[in-house]
Amino acid sequence: MCGIVAYIGTKEAYPILIKGLKRLEYRGYDSAGVALMNNGNISLIKQKGKVSELEELATKASITGTLGIGHTRWATHGPPSQINSHPHISNNGDIVVIHNGIIENFQSIKEELTRRGYKFISDTDTEVLPHLIEEIQKKEKCALDKAVRLALNEVTGAYAIAVFSKKEPNILIGARKGSPLIVGIGETEFFLASDASPVIEYTKKVIYINDEEMVTLNRDGNFELKTIQNEEKTPNIQELELNLESIEKGGYDHFMLKEIHEQPKSIYDSVRGRVDLTNGKIKLGGLEEYKNRIMASRRIVIVACGTSWHAGLLAEYMIEDLARANVEVEYASEFRYRNPVIDEDDIIIAISQSGETADTLAAIEMAKQKGCLILGVCNVVGSSIPRASHAGCYTHAGPEIGVASTKAFTAQVSVFFLIALWIAENKNTLSKSRLNQLLHELEILPSKIESLLKSCEEKVKAIAKEYKDATNFLYLGRGYNFPAALEGALKLKEISYIHAEGYPAAEMKHGPIALIDEEMPVVFLVNNISSHEKTLSNVQEVAARKGQVIAIARHGDTQIKKLAKHVIEVPDTEDCLSPILASIPLQLLSYYIALERGCNVDQPRNLAKSVTVE
Ligand code: GLU
Repeated sequence: MCGIVAYIGTKEAYPILIKGLKRLEYRGYDSAGVALMNNGNISLIKQKGKVSELEELATKASITGTLGIGHTRWATHGPPSQINSHPHISNNGDIVVIHNGIIENFQSIKEELTRRGYKFISDTDTEVLPHLIEEIQKKEKCALDKAVRLALNEVTGAYAIAVFSKKEPNILIGARKGSPLIVGIGETEFFLASDASPVIEYTKKVIYINDEEMVTLNRDGNFELKTIQNEEKTPNIQELELNLESIEKGGYDHFMLKEIHEQPKSIYDSVRGRVDLTNGKIKLGGLEEYKNRIMASRRIVIVACGTSWHAGLLAEYMIEDLARANVEVEYASEFRYRNPVIDEDDIIIAISQSGETADTLAAIEMAKQKGCLILGVCNVVGSSIPRASHAGCYTHAGPEIGVASTKAFTAQVSVFFLIALWIAENKNTLSKSRLNQLLHELEILPSKIESLLKSCEEKVKAIAKEYKDATNFLYLGRGYNFPAALEGALKLKEISYIHAEGYPAAEMKHGPIALIDEEMPVVFLVNNISSHEKTLSNVQEVAARKGQVIAIARHGDTQIKKLAKHVIEVPDTEDCLSPILASIPLQLLSYYIALERGCNVDQPRNLAKSVTVE
């Protein structure tokens, strides 16, 4: 996690860095800092807290210079504090470094450098880097780029770094392994950043740095891309497709609310161009090349973390139900370490909004070694997982900045609906008319979400007011709505800090029913047709114990109205798409409860958007 941004050129660097850090703040926000080359000296300011607090501090300092680096931290080693904030500076005061990732062998390097007289002031793993670079420069009497390269050969773990030195004020260096880093190429300037958001208003020309690559950017407009083994690389300069409006709040109070409201469009965009309704065909360009292998595979293993794992669970339900293919869903972090039985007959599908999730990335690298075909379902174009995959489908939800995922989740589910139908079409598991019916239902889903957003928001707000002080919530659903219940509970936990659990409704009586009393809000997802009667019996069981039932139900469901305290009505749809509709009021419920509790909705405590550490 953590965001890094750096600049070298002719403009004042500070405003570019601060603006960039604000855009990257979703990646980490427990401390922030900048260092600038200022008339032959390094000005360094850093501060615990948000980027805005750093900005306030900067008003008291004179910060100027056309070369600088900035960092917003998500602490891994050492608590959030001024001392542990980046940038970190070498003992001789020449070299400054910002870092995203974890230097796993920092302890042994630290011990060695300490023996040689280096003083460490922070608890971070990162601090070994400036001291190690200083030590190598002293020993080798070499330029900064060589010293950085040699240093990187000594470290293990993950990093994206930006480095400059007082002694070479026309050079900015960036390198990566495991954590993302892009170079923005302007007319007479260069940028380094964790993602494209800090650079889009200055340039659309970017290079995505690959693992174990290092770029040396020179103020004269030249740059050099090499591996850390010192092999020259030909840079692949790409055009950014991102636009500025998509990363701004557009009149909403929070990114999360904006992103919830964007779902009619994000689903439309994720499906657009992939469905030929006239001929009842699904076009998934990325997968076509591997069609035979996918159809002949023994099973599909989906690997993901967090919300993406919930999308994966829904994918399992859809692919098994509609395409009759064998699917398993795995937490990437468990899968990669438990010696799973996989081989070239297996297809691995990795799901990740950011495309940078460290565990998911490591899981697919491991599966690739075993000969599996790797497919990626990611949102960020050019990110590491799509690049490490053989093929895949982007979700096209647009930038998601709120830390709690909303539109990326429903876009993932929509794309998996298409993947399920594509397999079904190829395996002939559905009749033509049924396929067309399902595709038609997907086509009209965005307009259903639009009307649902209008009809339910006020009601959800009122329910949020009533339950804002609850300490526990249960979310229950069956079939397709069980994964949606898990996701609803996760949303509430993430942003309101209320303990919530998602459960299969029928499993409730095997444990959680003991928790039910008149204080316990229980959210029932009953808007799917299959098992409707059985779920209503579970609602009865909760009501009989005086639990407070909040139900998500189909329009016109008269039975539930007699049992539930609150009913939020959603439009009718196919069961396989019902979790998308159920998710909309659940996202709003967590949003408004968090707001009522005064929580920071877009930047919930301890979390970061893009989990690039294991
Ligand atoms: N491991 C470093 C630290 O704890 C960097 C963490 C990050 O990626 O934000 O400071």
